[in-house]
Amino acid sequence: MYLLSEELCILYLKDQTLLKLIICSRTLSGFTRPLARLIDQFEQLPGIGPRTAQRLSLYLLRQPEEKIHAFSNALLNARSQVGECQKCFHLSAEIECEICSNSARNKELLCVVADSRDLLALERTHEYKGIYHVLGGLISPMDGIGPEMLQISSLVKRVDSDKVKEVILALTPSVEGDTTSLYLARLLRPFTQVSRIAYGLPMGSELEYADEVTLTRALEGRRTMD
Ligand SMILES: [Zn+2]
Repeated sequence: MYLLSEELCILYLKDQTLLKLIICSRTLSGFTRPLARLIDQFEQLPGIGPRTAQRLSLYLLRQPEEKIHAFSNALLNARSQVGECQKCFHLSAEIECEICSNSARNKELLCVVADSRDLLALERTHEYKGIYHVLGGLISPMDGIGPEMLQISSLVKRVDSDKVKEVILALTPSVEGDTTSLYLARLLRPFTQVSRIAYGLPMGSELEYADEVTLTRALEGRRTMD
């Protein structure tokens, strides 16, 4: 399918004898152009379908101008100010994130997660009092993601220099999660005790979608990797 303009797309259907050209108007017909553009922006966001995009756009359009300014400023500021914590690589506007700089956190217990969404899921349990390390993904040879593309060497350095007593691997139960866990366990075992969270979840489940009780049990039921 080739997108020619905002309104038109051309779909070529090909069988052995026939090449058909179908011109179809986009579903956004009936919307004035600036509104159609706004709906289109929302539709590009994950988990937002055409109906939700229309609802959000029409809702925003009815809001007072100062509210729209506050909304767009929050978006622009978040984009320009939020980077990564230099220690754990969680999202942070400061050099060190709130978790790393919190003296009440147990610095001898470090939980490894694939990305910040998993960290936030574990934080929602309010049970874990240690610190984190965000890898930035999982090892996946099929997708061309090798260990050198993730925050792995920084993890090993950190565990060694900060005298971390236990590393908990909280990675998705999937082929990539298992591969990464085994790789990390082998690298980290000379420096510290390594455990992996227990799952009451089927293979392939995303950590970020697990409920708080399941995640708390998974943390409590962690097993040492040997
Ligand atoms: Zn941090």
